[in-house]
Amino acid sequence: MRVLVVEDELKMASLLLRGFRTNGDAADVTRTGEDAIWMAASTHYDAIVLDVMLPGMDGFETLAELRKQGRWTPVLVLTARDSVEDRIAGLDVGADDYLTKPFSFAELLARLRAIVRRGELERPSVLQVGDLRLDPATRQVWRGTTEIELTSKEFALLEAFMRRPGAVLSRDQLLEQAWDMGYDNRSNVIAVYVNYLRDKIDRPFGANSITTVRGAGYRLRKDP
Ligand code: CA
Repeated sequence: MRVLVVEDELKMASLLLRGFRTNGDAADVTRTGEDAIWMAASTHYDAIVLDVMLPGMDGFETLAELRKQGRWTPVLVLTARDSVEDRIAGLDVGADDYLTKPFSFAELLARLRAIVRRGELERPSVLQVGDLRLDPATRQVWRGTTEIELTSKEFALLEAFMRRPGAVLSRDQLLEQAWDMGYDNRSNVIAVYVNYLRDKIDRPFGANSITTVRGAGYRLRKDP
């Protein structure tokens, strides 16, 4: 298997690297979460060993970002602290297993094999922007505690917005999310559906979270 090791401590990183290579596995090492996200996007890994304590983005933030980008590579989190809070935080962002330092390489390998056998499981966490929440797994949407019924197109649009809060999404980018290439009435369909969406997620709540950016597209405000 091919493993990505994300660990800034040189000694631990080289120990893992040596272990994998001795075992006949391919392994790459990176020191930061930022690099790990980039590497996971360009190379297929069967598993990622991710330390929690990293410079810059920590392990949980790194994992959350990977899952947000739709990368479901099995991840084993290394934590120095055997705290319940760490485990819960990791589970919430989509970790597959944990190992508390210090550990034996044999145990790490056994756990890694187990999660690799299970394969890539899609387990997106709930997306949240302000008091708007969207669960891609159950296809539910809430504003605060009120559940909102959306059609599949409206849901797809909102999901696109909520995966990139604060970013301006062009009409073409939004079309890609919810309409197939053959759709030919592309001129104002997005404007129409954005309006439907506002009727459901904004206007009844006195909110104004989807803004029109003239000549560019639409943006879901991060802090409406
Ligand atoms: Ca570390």
